[in-house]
Amino acid sequence: MAYIQIDKNNYIYNLNQLAIKAGSKDKIAVVLKDNAYGHGLEIMAKIASEFGISNAVVIDNREANAIKRYFKNILILNDTTTLNSHFSYTISSIERLKSCNPKSKIELKIDTGMHRNGIMPDELGKAIDIIKRRKINLVGVMTHYARADELDSGYYYQKKIFDEIRAYFNHTGFKGVRFHSHNSSALIRCNSFDEDIARVGIASYGYNCLPDIFGEFNLKPVMSVWANRVSTRRLKKGQRVGYGGDFIAPRDMIVSTYDIGYGDGLPRGDSQNPYTLPNELKIIGRVSMDFITLESTKERVCIISDAKLTAKYFNTISYEITTSLKEAIKRIVV
Ligand SMILES: *Cc1c(COP(=O)(O)O)cnc(C)c1O
Repeated sequence: MAYIQIDKNNYIYNLNQLAIKAGSKDKIAVVLKDNAYGHGLEIMAKIASEFGISNAVVIDNREANAIKRYFKNILILNDTTTLNSHFSYTISSIERLKSCNPKSKIELKIDTGMHRNGIMPDELGKAIDIIKRRKINLVGVMTHYARADELDSGYYYQKKIFDEIRAYFNHTGFKGVRFHSHNSSALIRCNSFDEDIARVGIASYGYNCLPDIFGEFNLKPVMSVWANRVSTRRLKKGQRVGYGGDFIAPRDMIVSTYDIGYGDGLPRGDSQNPYTLPNELKIIGRVSMDFITLESTKERVCIISDAKLTAKYFNTISYEITTSLKEAIKRIVV
C-alpha cells in the first residue's frame, strides 16, 4: 500500500526556525487545518506539542476535539461556537457576532484587504457595541493577508490597517486580547515580529512560498509519499499501457505497476506531459484511480519528496498537493 512518511526531525527543525523568527515557541500557533495540510492531524499535533507549542489552529470542532489534549488553546476557523475553555472561535461577520455564544472565547476577524472573510474596518464601532452589549468574551483580533507571498506592497498596506485597529482596541479598554495577522510568508518576510502569535501552516511543513528575492529561509519538507510495486511485465515494442493506450512502448521494456493513483490524491495530470518522480522516472501512460506504471522493478518508489516541485509540475501550489492526499493513506513517522 502507498504510504506517507513524516519526518519528525524536519518538522521540529522547521518549527524551531519559525520560533526563532517569531521570538519564542509561545508565539507560534501551528495551523493543523485540513488534516494538517494532509500530513495527519493527530501525528503533527503530538509532535508540535512535544516540541513545546501550545497554540494550534484548525478548521472546525471535529478537528479541535481530535487534538484537544495537546494544546492550551485551539483556534477554530469556521464552526459554531461551543463552550470549551481550550477552544476559541473566529467570528467573521456582524451577523455571527450577534448569534455566537457570548461566553465562548471569540476572536474577531477583520477584513483588512483580502475581501474573503471578516468585518470591514468601518464596521468596527458597531462590532464593539455588540461585543460590549452582549458581554462577548473577546480574546483575540485577527486578520489574514491576501498576498504576503508576493513581491508587492499588499502586506504592508494590510499590516498598517491592522496596526491601526490594534491601537483602536487598546484605546477602547479591552484587556487580554491577542492580536495576530501573520501566516507563514508574512512571518518569514517581516523584519521584526511584533504581534502575539503567528499562525504558521505551510512553512512548518517545509515550504517557503516567497520569491527568491526575499532571501534564504531554510526549511525542510516534512512529507514524502511512497508507493509499492504490485506487478511487473515485459512489453514488446509497440505495445500500449493503461487507459486509452496513451503510452506506446518505443522498445522492448520491463514495466511495473505501483499502488498509488488519483484516488489517493495524486493529480491525474496529462499523460502527454507525464509527471517525473524525484528519481527522474516518468509516469507511463495515464494515471489510474489506484495505480501508476513505471519503467522500474524496484519494490518501492518515492512519488513525492518535495511538494513544491510536484506542485510546479501540476501547475498548482504545494498546499493543494499535500492537502489532497487522502486521510486513508497510512502515515508513518520516522
Ligand atoms: C490557512 C491559514 C493560515 C496559514 O497560512 P500559511 O500560508 O499556510 O502559513 C493562517 N491563517 C488563516 C486564517 C488561515 O486560514
